[in-house]
Amino acid sequence: MRTPFIAGNWKMNMTAESGKKLIEELKPLVKDANCKVALCVPAILIPAMTEAAKGSNIEIGAENVHWAEKGAYTGEISCTMLKEYGVKYAIIGHSERRQYFGETDEGVNKRTLAALAGGITPIVCVGETLEERESGVTEKVLDRQLEVGLKGIKDITNVVIAYEPVWAIGTGKTATDEQAQETIAYIRKKIGEIFCPKCAEKVIIQYGGSMNAANCKGLMAQPDIDGGLIGGASLKLDFATIVNYDK
Ligand code: PEP
Repeated sequence: MRTPFIAGNWKMNMTAESGKKLIEELKPLVKDANCKVALCVPAILIPAMTEAAKGSNIEIGAENVHWAEKGAYTGEISCTMLKEYGVKYAIIGHSERRQYFGETDEGVNKRTLAALAGGITPIVCVGETLEERESGVTEKVLDRQLEVGLKGIKDITNVVIAYEPVWAIGTGKTATDEQAQETIAYIRKKIGEIFCPKCAEKVIIQYGGSMNAANCKGLMAQPDIDGGLIGGASLKLDFATIVNYDK
């Protein structure tokens, strides 16, 4: 009922040249995928990567989007600008944005509402730090991130959620299949409470955090895990192996 969705997050990596080369190599490898495939790339690479991915099943996404349509927001990018290049997705509230750039749940909410209004599917990231998990407040943290971050959304089925435990991102330390399943099932239940249980059943929830070619099968076999948000492994051909997790 839910179409799996694997998205890459290039973060601040790649150049126009290396990005184009990777996309050219990935195209034939992912063309028969049974899931949706996207690469979220640095803003400056969007035009070139859109061109490189043309005619393939790889869709291009952004790594952030601002809430205003235009104005005095130095360094930010609007939905209108992204749409001009056919951008389909935007990551919002990634833990690195929260950790290094002061992103708040309120900001996540404003960006998410703007993305939806502008026709871009937001990939909203939530997840607890190691300290929060160890002190037993994971659910409390997720409750806050979901309640505030998703406030005022009319149709939650237009939003993709990425559960990314901060302690697993870029650390090589993946959540176990069971940990990821348990927490994502909790997120789905919470979305059901905030919106409606029927809608929650339709929401795509990805796992993110050191997902790779070796562990993707086990994670994707979990009933509530509908895909992955892939950092490091999306910078290489391993991304194709993850996309083809079911083969
Ligand atoms: C991410 O950037 O969203 C991520 C999950 O990174 P990594 O796969 O490298 O842990």
